[in-house]
This record gives sequence, structure tokens and C-alpha cells, in this order.
Amino acid sequence: MSRSKADWIVGVDIGGTNIKVGVVPFDGGTPLAVRVERTEVQRGAKFVVDRVVKMIQDAIEEVAKAEGAGTDAFAGIGIGSPGPLDRRTGTVISTPNLGWRNFPLRDLIRNAVGLPATLDNDANAATYGEWWQGAGRDVDTVVGVTLGTGIGGGIVLNGVLHHGASDAAGELGHMTIDSTGRKCNCGNYGCLEAYASGPAIAARAIEGLEAEVPSLLPELAGDPNSITAETVYDAVVQGDPYATEVLHDTAKFLGVGLANIINIINPDLLVISGGVTKAGDHLFEPLRAEIRKRAFRVAEQACKIVPSSLNGTAGIIGAVACFKKETYGSV
Ligand SMILES: [Zn+2]
Repeated sequence: MSRSKADWIVGVDIGGTNIKVGVVPFDGGTPLAVRVERTEVQRGAKFVVDRVVKMIQDAIEEVAKAEGAGTDAFAGIGIGSPGPLDRRTGTVISTPNLGWRNFPLRDLIRNAVGLPATLDNDANAATYGEWWQGAGRDVDTVVGVTLGTGIGGGIVLNGVLHHGASDAAGELGHMTIDSTGRKCNCGNYGCLEAYASGPAIAARAIEGLEAEVPSLLPELAGDPNSITAETVYDAVVQGDPYATEVLHDTAKFLGVGLANIINIINPDLLVISGGVTKAGDHLFEPLRAEIRKRAFRVAEQACKIVPSSLNGTAGIIGAVACFKKETYGSV
């Protein structure tokens, strides 16, 4: 496809909690007209699609006005969504967080907006975004890990986003780190996600408190059952020894998983994003120490471990990169 007049591509990042939309210059750069709204999954799939479409239309209108651009200046829409999904048909096969099954997300958005669209996994897209414009822009092989309600991942191998045989590659959160461990939302036992996702961090913190250890956590949360991963970081920053122990355990679990990845992929860079990175060195120091203990030295020494540098827009930028790659063959 030619791009004679295309100056902009719209990026859409659909998550279980928020939808983010922004307009990215064709050759990369800071997204414009970024908007974030709640997903409100419980209001149904049609509601979510209508909301996404409206956000896209508003973003296009805002950029068109500000830049004096015509409608032909917008090449299309890159969409990132939780999976598993089928890129060829643009269908979300199933997603526990959104409750969609065999849902033709890409074409619903494409038809409503009237622009070409592509669909990719949200965590894959975010990793591709980091490689294209973010922390990974100077290297070839990047692994991305997104720590949130779940744990997502993406793998860029020698500059190519690795989708695997059926678009299911990169599910780092469902790597088994304990064969008889905690039950995961995916049905398996002992997945990394069952230990180090936001809800898993909170659950471990609450379980430990039942042994009546002294901690700021119940007071910060108002009531022990309202403790979230966020409360744990807040308590760590205030020097709470119990919360620090919970975070160190989190770093250990992550370190086990990421050492596996480093030994298998030998990446230049591991980019970690999501709420937990707010804990900063409280997380990264024990995490690096755990990886040093476990991974091969040559692989561990070659791999930088950093937080995202795209300030929450990696998913938008990466969805645009996926659109470019699928539509034009290169980014
Ligand atoms: Zn799992």
C-alpha cells in the first residue's frame, strides 16, 4: 500500500481497566491527542467498542484541527488488545479480563471509523513500541514485561516482533515457576502471574498479615481486605519492614521467571512496565540480584533491565508500529 498523503496513524491500547488512544506521526514521535478512559467491561462489548470508536474519532478531529490536516492524512488504526487473538481475521479468541469470545474487534472498529485497521496482542504491541521508540530503540532483541492486573509479555527478536505459530507467543506471565504452586487465572498452577501480578502481590500481603505481623498496611488501606499492590509500595516507601519483605518476595519470583527468559532468549534489554515499577530501586535492586544468582553470567551481563521510557504510551506507539509493519512491511 502506498502512503502518499498519510502523515498520521492512530494507536489504540485496550486494557482491562483503561482504554488509551493517541495519534502518532507516521515516522514515530510523541503521540498527540492522547485520551484515556475507563474500559467499563461490565457494560458489555458494544459499549466498549462504541467508546473506542468515539475516542478515535475525537482524537482524529483534534489532530486534524490542530495540524490543518485532511481526513486523507490518517493512514489507519493499530489496535492492541488482550488475547489470545487471531491477527489474520482480526478476532479476539478469548480474554478472561474482558470476557470476549471470538469477537471481531478489528472489523467492528474499522467499519465504524472507516479506516484500515490491524489487531495485535497488547503486550506484544507495547514491547514493539519500546523497541521502535522507547528504551529499546538502540538494540535488536528486547523482551517486555507488563506487570498489572495480569502479567503480559512480548518478544522482539533481532528487530522482528515474535508472534509464534498461532499469535500466542510472549505469554511470559504464564511461565510455570513452581510446578505445585498457586492457582493461576489461566487454570494452570504456579504461573509467574499467580505470584507477581498486582492482585497476587496484594493476596500474598493479606495472607501474611493473618499471622498478625506488625505492619502499616492495614492502617494505610483502611481495612486489611482493601490492601492492593499500590498499598504495598506506599508502605515500602514509608519503610515498613513487612511490606518490604512482600516486595522482596515479588522481586524473587520475578527474578526466577526473568532469569529463565534471559537464559532462553539472551536479550539485550528487558523492559519492565506497569504500576509495580513505581517501587523503583526497592524492586529493581533485589530483582537484579536474584537474576544474577540464577542466569548464565554471559547472558545476564549482556542484558540491561530497565523501566519503560514511554510514560504509559508504549501500547499506543506499539500498536501503530504493528499497523505499519502489517500494512507496509516495515516500521
Ligand atoms: Zn497462568
